[in-house]
Amino acid sequence: MNTTQTYKVKGMHCASCAGIIEKTFKKVDGVVSAEVNYGTETAKIAIDESKTNPHSLSEKIEKLGYSLVVPTAERMFMSPEEHREHLGFNQSKKEKLAEVTDLRNKVMSAIPLAIFSIFVMSWDIFAEYKLISPMGYTIKEFFHHLLPIFATYTLFVVGKPYLLGFYRFLRYGKANMDTLIGIGTSVAFLYSFIITAFEKTLRPFLNVDQTYYDVTIVVITFIALGKYLEARSKIKTGDAIEKLLNLQAKTALVVRDGKEIEISVNEVVHGDWIIIKPGAKIPVDGIISEGSSYIDESMVTGEPMPVQKKVGDSVVSGTMNTSGSFAFVATKVGSETLLAQIIKMVEEAQGSKAPIQALADKISSIFVPIVLVIAFATLGAWLFFATGPFGFAQALSYGLTSFVGVLVIACPCALGLATPTAIIVGVGKGAREGILIKDAATMEKLHKVDTVVVDKTGTITVGKPTLVDIENLSDLQNEELISMLASLEKKSEHPIAHAIVNYAQAKNIPTTDISNFESIQGKGLRGSIKGVEYFVGNAKLIVDLGIGFDASKMEQFTAQGKTPVILATKRKVVGFVMVADEIKLESKQAMADLHKLGITVVMLTGDDERAAKYMASLVGIDEVIAHVLPEDKLTKIKELQSQGRVVAMAGDGVNDAPALAQADVGIAMGTGTDVAIESAGITLLGGDISKLVKSIKLSKITMRGIKQNLFWAFIYNIVGIPLATGMFFAASEWLLSPAFAGFAMAMSSVSVVGNSLRIKSMKL
Ligand code: ADP
Ligand code: MG
Repeated sequence: MNTTQTYKVKGMHCASCAGIIEKTFKKVDGVVSAEVNYGTETAKIAIDESKTNPHSLSEKIEKLGYSLVVPTAERMFMSPEEHREHLGFNQSKKEKLAEVTDLRNKVMSAIPLAIFSIFVMSWDIFAEYKLISPMGYTIKEFFHHLLPIFATYTLFVVGKPYLLGFYRFLRYGKANMDTLIGIGTSVAFLYSFIITAFEKTLRPFLNVDQTYYDVTIVVITFIALGKYLEARSKIKTGDAIEKLLNLQAKTALVVRDGKEIEISVNEVVHGDWIIIKPGAKIPVDGIISEGSSYIDESMVTGEPMPVQKKVGDSVVSGTMNTSGSFAFVATKVGSETLLAQIIKMVEEAQGSKAPIQALADKISSIFVPIVLVIAFATLGAWLFFATGPFGFAQALSYGLTSFVGVLVIACPCALGLATPTAIIVGVGKGAREGILIKDAATMEKLHKVDTVVVDKTGTITVGKPTLVDIENLSDLQNEELISMLASLEKKSEHPIAHAIVNYAQAKNIPTTDISNFESIQGKGLRGSIKGVEYFVGNAKLIVDLGIGFDASKMEQFTAQGKTPVILATKRKVVGFVMVADEIKLESKQAMADLHKLGITVVMLTGDDERAAKYMASLVGIDEVIAHVLPEDKLTKIKELQSQGRVVAMAGDGVNDAPALAQADVGIAMGTGTDVAIESAGITLLGGDISKLVKSIKLSKITMRGIKQNLFWAFIYNIVGIPLATGMFFAASEWLLSPAFAGFAMAMSSVSVVGNSLRIKSMKL
């Protein structure tokens, strides 16, 4: 059987690590697919369980310095916190923090050494111009003897990961970023060490006055500093998950055997009676059974105003009670709760790969070997071309400088961080606003959308229509007409049905039982009362029945945006009522904002054309496609797509599911607690249409961030490598110092992560 699971990966230091692990896994028999993400340090692996297992996969990468965190025993309905514990996320978080502290301590110890060697370097320059006193020469001499000691410490203690990278390259032939730095710095060190050890013997052949201890020290210090800053800000990119986890209450006050006891939230089971005091967090999802209160749901839905909740209303975990108190029955616990699903979704989205990343991945996977080749070619070229004019000693010294410079500046680290860090921050920011994005691919597609298709009921309108007019076309009493309509509609789930049933209830109009109920998709329903068959629905239904009636009165109403509900027998129309749905407060502004983004809005509805057009004109919708059967919504989306449009469809996610799936981006308006998270690419919690605008803006901001990141990541390498090879030396006598290469490389990663973090504070 095939199973897919996301594992935490330990030991990743750079983007090329992700490529190495991915390739290793893909070679294993039984691995269906593997996707390794450097940004989140996770691996999403689909395996055929009969052929391999996560433990043996982990063993495959252990010799390369990595490992998978393989979960232990599984339990039903684990809370998000437990789930993370189980997957090793918490442990790896603790380890990550310890790693960052360790890195900081090492960097701190190396910085004074780096400053010292820069100082000695500059003193050498002064000495060359005879700017120091004879006493100064003695001190300089002494300082020079300190450099080998400092370099040894820096290379073997601070630079250990890079040495290991070098070792693994020699042993297993796998090269990652660390390998490049490792080769560069150890070659510089080894050359210098040989010169120091055999100074006298080598003097006739080599330039023994020039050593590269300072290069080893400064490069390693800069790289380690860059890694430290990168690791520190990388922790910050993931803090949206942390904030969501913090929303989860740790304990719950439940009634068991007639007593109120406080238990861990992990022990709450279905049907538990839970007491909520003023100011308390809601621990699990459920339905209020006693009392009422205002609940602040802003943390989950992004809605700022507390919502009133009374008996029968649902509450969700992670939200906060205000001043009232109430009791509720737990209906969803552990992994089933909305909060748990949100966390899971955000996590998966953050770990997924955007298509735009494919190029960067490809480049970083071939980068390391290419750079090794360039570096050795550079060294060879120096020896070949420069030995003539400068002599072998000087040519070798130039060659080594270039060799180390190329290896150091070529790091594709920033390239590997460019996309994932922006996605992590963007997805996290969305979650804070009640915008749940399923994966990175959706985030990427969304910014290209030029047409938004909206459903009318529940998307543009509140979705709670009310009965506003009654037109009786027979000798029945109005009450009898309503009674028949309500009896038939009782069995329907459509918002229109609720309007009629509610009206009857409010007016105390009795209903009777019906038989042979059947709903007619996109048109209405049928059913029998006392043996007579009736039809309830829209004008299309009447046309289908082939009965004529004077529609002029009805059309006056539909021109005002009201929807007709007609009651008819097989032979004639008995009468009709009109229902009207209020337009949401935010709809008009949202449409205007979409227009500002250059997006065309199309309304797709099963409703009456006149009514739909009227509503559309009120909010400023560009096109109306009315009288569409649910199954035709899909075809309409396809039609728009065939015109070359990139279509996002926002719907209630229930009967719109096929259309949502067909659209380039499906957006579900998640009203209340039943969020169809799986069905759509994007779920807007709280069913707020203005979030649609925000999500498009978010996608644009995130994609812009990614493109800037890719630019910055590339430019360092594109400009840096030719400079480092020294190909401009002949023209300018200028050679890039490896120390500067180390600085530039460190800065590229830091600037990329920093740029991604900026997304967090941008206005939507
Ligand atoms: P929409 O979600 O756009 O309203 P539907 O397919 O759900 O699309 O419904 C299309 C139309 O069919 C409604 O606008 C209404 O006129 C009619 N209809 C559907 N169900 C009912 C019902 N239970 N009672 C009366 N009319 C209905
Ligand atoms: Mg609908």
